[in-house]
Amino acid sequence: MYRGIPVSAGVSHGKVIVLGDAARTILRREIRAEETPRELQRLQEAVTQTRRDLLEIQRQVSEAISSHEASIFDAHLLVLEDATMLGEAHQLIRDQHVNCEAAYHQVAEKFARALGELGDEYLRERAADIRDVSGRVLDHLLGRATEQDLRHLREPCIIVAPDLAPSTTAVLDRTLVLGFATDAGGTTSHTAIMARKLGIPAVVGLGDITSRVRTGEYALIDGHGGTLSINPTDQTLFEYGQLKQRRAALDDRLAVLREQPAVTLDGHEVVLAANIDQIEDIPALVQCGAHGVGLFRSEFLFLNRRDLPTEEEQFEAYRRVAEASAPHGATIRTLDLGGDKLPSAWARIGEQNPFLGWRAIRISLALPEIFQTQLRAILRASAHGKVRIMFPMISSLPELREANASLERCREDLRSEGIPFDEQLEVGMMIEVPGAALIAETLAREVAFFSIGTNDLTGYTLAVDRLNERVAALFAPTHPAVLRLIQMTVAAARKHGRWVGVCGEAAGDPEVIPILLGLGIDELSATPSAIPSVKFLLRRLRLPEVTAAADAALAAESAEEALRISQALARRAAPELFHSS
Ligand code: PEP
Ligand code: MG
Repeated sequence: MYRGIPVSAGVSHGKVIVLGDAARTILRREIRAEETPRELQRLQEAVTQTRRDLLEIQRQVSEAISSHEASIFDAHLLVLEDATMLGEAHQLIRDQHVNCEAAYHQVAEKFARALGELGDEYLRERAADIRDVSGRVLDHLLGRATEQDLRHLREPCIIVAPDLAPSTTAVLDRTLVLGFATDAGGTTSHTAIMARKLGIPAVVGLGDITSRVRTGEYALIDGHGGTLSINPTDQTLFEYGQLKQRRAALDDRLAVLREQPAVTLDGHEVVLAANIDQIEDIPALVQCGAHGVGLFRSEFLFLNRRDLPTEEEQFEAYRRVAEASAPHGATIRTLDLGGDKLPSAWARIGEQNPFLGWRAIRISLALPEIFQTQLRAILRASAHGKVRIMFPMISSLPELREANASLERCREDLRSEGIPFDEQLEVGMMIEVPGAALIAETLAREVAFFSIGTNDLTGYTLAVDRLNERVAALFAPTHPAVLRLIQMTVAAARKHGRWVGVCGEAAGDPEVIPILLGLGIDELSATPSAIPSVKFLLRRLRLPEVTAAADAALAAESAEEALRISQALARRAAPELFHSS
């Protein structure tokens, strides 16, 4: 049994599929002379298998997108069959008695590095092709799955991976995924966010779990306790079966609340909205009983493709989200690319500190054509359902003004073209940068609302990388410093008559919600699977007690103390939510 960080509740048992990371675990070993033919043959077989895979992907891409896109794989096939590269690998195996994985990896890296260093954009892309293709060959040699396999899972399985990039989770066959277990990550990494969205158990920060389990083995994942048990005993399976039953009974109880309002015992109404990022999430949105969408992460429309979505394509997506969010409406966040979310064609920008780099509104303002196309599409969708626009990662007033000016230009264009949109559409911004919270009073004058992104706000305030399991214990949205920034944001908003939401993961965490309500938050936006529990809790709280909890938390000496205060109130008000964990 391996212990990690529990980030998405639930228990499941099933076959494991281990996703590879070629650079990680390639052991070099000396082989005996008589092993040489076998190693040469293994390499040959892996190349043949990879050729089959590439041809198959090429066929699928050509059917699904276009033959032009599919031609990219011609370059990959040429790399795969490059006689010089394979010749050098054979030579290493034969003359230096190196195992085939290490030999092939060494040669491929040598070629990729040489091309990558030439400083030419085209050649750097070829270096990436070499790494892509050699990664596939190595995955075959090491018995690991590739991202491609995740799109076409044949049976239900638990995915074990170093980490899961948003671009990978976005294309998963979600009907067949039983859980995620990863080496890296923290509670607000995208693996965690995705798992909660799908309502499947996830445990992250398991260290080197990818090298401890193999594809095809069975495992039990416990997203409450944060463990992964490989080949569990019957007794363990029995105990977890009971836990699962308790959870199902609770879900039945919560389902009854679907049509009920999100209102406290003393009549204080809270807007309870959902976070979604793909059109595929619409059924879950409709099902969960949320008031519309509080955060649509539009950047997912830009992942896993080599071109950019057109205005028409985006309009269609935003229109569908707006319609599904009626009557409350949808908050569409403009692109938050960068950090760990990069389109395929940009994946090689290679910044030193991507989370402090070219991200979100900074990219949009630097690439006005992309920004304007998106803003036009959102505005047009506002004629078909209630829509709000929200800018991510704003850190200063000039930046906000520039974004607002771009939007104003789009409005003027649409007016002069006679294209309808909602003239009353609300425009807001996220509070994710501590500096923005500190100048919230200035910013509040020029927006209709704030939505606090506690994931990034916590990370930036406490200097904790949200993806890094080594510092995951320091990631604490209840840290008094974060709470004070939230308090300042709310005070600034109140002064100017603006409303404030929270759309970070804290908004879906019953243990933190008493503090957020007590701080005066008007809207909580959480992943659809968390909505029923949040509503259940809200309906059992009273305003004076959450206000007292927030005051005490603000004065606490540590994040742990503040959390204990909030936890105690949540557990007292809604003990049922905590029984099954
Ligand atoms: C946040 O930072 O809290 C947030 C909601 O944005 P994301 O998780 O997409 O960075
Ligand atoms: Mg964020």
